[in-house]
Amino acid sequence: MMYAIFFIIVGFVAMELSGWFIHKYIMHGPLWNIHKTHHQPNKGFFELNDLFSLLFGSIAVLLIFLGVGELDYRFWMGVGISLYGMLYFVIHDVLVHRRVKMFERPRNRFLLSIFRAHQAHHATNKKDDAVSFGLFVVPRKYFKIKSK
Ligand SMILES: [Zn+2]
Ligand SMILES: [Zn+2]
Repeated sequence: MMYAIFFIIVGFVAMELSGWFIHKYIMHGPLWNIHKTHHQPNKGFFELNDLFSLLFGSIAVLLIFLGVGELDYRFWMGVGISLYGMLYFVIHDVLVHRRVKMFERPRNRFLLSIFRAHQAHHATNKKDDAVSFGLFVVPRKYFKIKSK
């Protein structure tokens, strides 16, 4: 049981850390042409940037597939990554970008700070001057602003 929880957390944390790194140095770097579709006004339901979600999703599915026989660390890391993906979708795609019209604007302090930090990320449509690339790890200053 502890084993499972440990590797679920490892998968989850690894996603936030590698996600931050990939977002900052790759998506706002060599793969900007794909990611920029997320920084431009969206015309359809899908954007080219969704390829990244597909990629992370595939990694999770692969890990679960490889580890399901033994229920080993790969399986539980896959579960952690999936959990991250689902939470990311609900917070980033539903709550912040309203791709699905569900839930109101959050009132919870932590959710609100995520909200503000990610809006700050979208304050620019350019490759180079963006801030706050993670999702769950929020700089303290976004907690301090009084909610309107
Ligand atoms: Zn970005
Ligand atoms: Zn966004």
